[in-house]
Amino acid sequence: MPYLVRENLFISNINDAAEILQNGTVHNNNNITHILSVLSSASISFFSEWRSTFSIPVKEISKLHVTDLPSASKFALSPDKLLYSLEYAGKDLKLVRMAIPLKDTENENLLDYLQVCIDFIDRSRKEGSVLVHCFAGVSRSAAIITAYLMRSENLSQEDALESLRQSCEFVCPNDGFLEQLKMFEEMGFKVDQSSSIYKRFRLKILGENHFSGLRIDSSKLGADPGVPVESSSEVDEATKVKSNSSPTYRCKKCRRIVALQEHVVDHIPGEGETSFGWQKRRSGNPFNKSNESECSSIFIEPLRWMKAVEEGALEGKLSCAHCDARLGYFNWAGIQCSCGSWITPAFQLHKSRVDISPV
Ligand SMILES: [Zn+2]
Ligand SMILES: [Zn+2]
Repeated sequence: MPYLVRENLFISNINDAAEILQNGTVHNNNNITHILSVLSSASISFFSEWRSTFSIPVKEISKLHVTDLPSASKFALSPDKLLYSLEYAGKDLKLVRMAIPLKDTENENLLDYLQVCIDFIDRSRKEGSVLVHCFAGVSRSAAIITAYLMRSENLSQEDALESLRQSCEFVCPNDGFLEQLKMFEEMGFKVDQSSSIYKRFRLKILGENHFSGLRIDSSKLGADPGVPVESSSEVDEATKVKSNSSPTYRCKKCRRIVALQEHVVDHIPGEGETSFGWQKRRSGNPFNKSNESECSSIFIEPLRWMKAVEEGALEGKLSCAHCDARLGYFNWAGIQCSCGSWITPAFQLHKSRVDISPV
């Protein structure tokens, strides 16, 4: 049986979800009208197959791909990954189901799905009752409901999870999800793409993709600020306004724009991954502090002009797309800044090779 978490909000596993889809109102004492399915990407079709194996008479009357994804998910989600369906279960129960593909592994990108899930739960609770389920009802569904409670009740990650455990004691989001929920808290219960927390997280995920052998094609890289954007959409307008009022980084030789302030991934001088013993000692020396605050490089998100990155190498030169002047270096395994910090993965521009145009 689904566990009641809040009024009109339930958590459970795939069995309960299937039973509701199968039996409709008969066994649906909770009047569930909406289902949020969180299953591995293969499992979205698996869910249908699984359903037909058990001959569940669900008729999908409409299935549409959501194309207007919230901006928070523009990086990780492609429209065909999100499934909305309106289904009829039993005789007269109409169920609205949204399915998102997410594996229960620590390096899955939960953050990018949070906004769309929270919105769905919010809307569903106003229209009826919503069941959030994954396979076992332990990790993925629990992580999403934890985020929902954090946002809607202003709770820390720990308090929200503890509160959820009052309803369903065995919930246990995996460590990677817990870490991301902590970031969600640090970003003010939202997914703020401009925060360095989010940028570092996204870089880390990209790095993991690279090392797991996934091709990093241009769709995974940020838009090239040196290529004029069409001013048709609101998003582009917003970008334009932003780029007018914040620093712009240009190739020193040909003046081509290579990065905007929003692409910069900040690091705290002298801090970071202490991979080497000597670096730890150096960071601990107060006499070096003044030198350490001088960073000779800036680190940015990988952008579409970085052709060498798309070629799949572990490391390489970053050259200007217009004049081919050398601007910096990239290394998926990390680069150490002159301040001592390790940035991993690193897309580095030497300050001496770029001009910063002020406001
Ligand atoms: Zn530095
Ligand atoms: Zn150039």
